[in-house]
Amino acid sequence: MAHDAPQAAGPSKLVIRNIGLLLSGAMERPILDADTIVAENGKITAIGRAKDVNSEGATTIVDANGTTVAPGLIDSHVHPVAGDWTPRQNQINWIDSYLHGGVTTMISAGEVHMPGRPRDVVGVKAMAIFAQRSFWTLRPGGVKVHAGAPVIENEMVEDDFKELAAAGVKLLGEVGLGGVKDGPTARKMVGWARKYGIQSTIHTGGPSIPGSGLIDKDVVLEADTDVIGHINGGHTALPDGQIRCICEGCKRGLELVHNGNERSALFTLRTAREMGDLSRIILGTDAPAGSGVQPLGILRMVSLLSSLGEVPAEIAFCFATGNTARMRALDCGIIEVGRSADFVIMDKAQHSPGKNILESVQLGDLPGIGMTIIDGIVRTQRSRNTPPATKVPEIVGH
Ligand SMILES: [Zn+2]
Repeated sequence: MAHDAPQAAGPSKLVIRNIGLLLSGAMERPILDADTIVAENGKITAIGRAKDVNSEGATTIVDANGTTVAPGLIDSHVHPVAGDWTPRQNQINWIDSYLHGGVTTMISAGEVHMPGRPRDVVGVKAMAIFAQRSFWTLRPGGVKVHAGAPVIENEMVEDDFKELAAAGVKLLGEVGLGGVKDGPTARKMVGWARKYGIQSTIHTGGPSIPGSGLIDKDVVLEADTDVIGHINGGHTALPDGQIRCICEGCKRGLELVHNGNERSALFTLRTAREMGDLSRIILGTDAPAGSGVQPLGILRMVSLLSSLGEVPAEIAFCFATGNTARMRALDCGIIEVGRSADFVIMDKAQHSPGKNILESVQLGDLPGIGMTIIDGIVRTQRSRNTPPATKVPEIVGH
């Protein structure tokens, strides 16, 4: 298994030059006028034109060859269990495969596929702390997996949330996947979580697998989680009227997932656009799931929303990067000085009819990935999973 996360030994300076198109990840200014990025010790230190930035002393130089650099993609909704293995479909290396789909950060919505998952309060807390610790230590392929997301049970009290937070837990798993399925109890516990700095999400829609249940708009709105987890269902979506009520009834994040109803995703997108609220849209895969794992799931969502939802491709990429980073207070996801040097370098796929990468995505094609970088370290070169990129970046110096 690809459990190695090569760490930089000593000071490092990465220079990416000859960038043809720089996507920022930030909706207010999705394209930056720059052709060079400098990152020192894993953080972005300069963005600009080659003549204006200090490239001296680089330990790694990447020639982008005129291709497109974007922030590494963020999957807002995954269900990891242990290391780079998932028992859901008994696959190994699924996280490493996601890296080849441009995903450099993942957020756990609960480690619910753990065989024999404990339901008692001590067991729930122990498992969350274990998952937080193990994924903090281990980065499959270098991917940052934010895990340790307990699923709330009816017996929990305020002190449990205080204890979880003190132990380093920062997320709740999907409300509704445990014993708590009613609005008032969910609201009370989500409030406790928020009080101690723990972010929350909720399962929205019909049951995902035998044993899970329906969570409708009334429960979603009453629970008031920070993120409306898979508002387009996981996989069974709520009726459009209920989705509209949720969009209009709160200001929380609207998460669209690959393992959801695609028509409902487009309905949510249009509703958010009418409301001038596209900054609330974030993307996940909700994998591993009944339909497997989808290493290209985030790219496919970007392409789906851009092509069928008529969103400019550079904005659709923000759904998978800056919007999620802001909502979840991550230091990646936007090309900005001071943030993590996590990048995906892409180009139009070979033989896509679009005249450039943005047009190809708007036509519904996937881009080809040529390189991923996490914390200023090159992790992969030409993707083994995407269609081949027309042009690829190369490492030209160390
Ligand atoms: Zn769910």
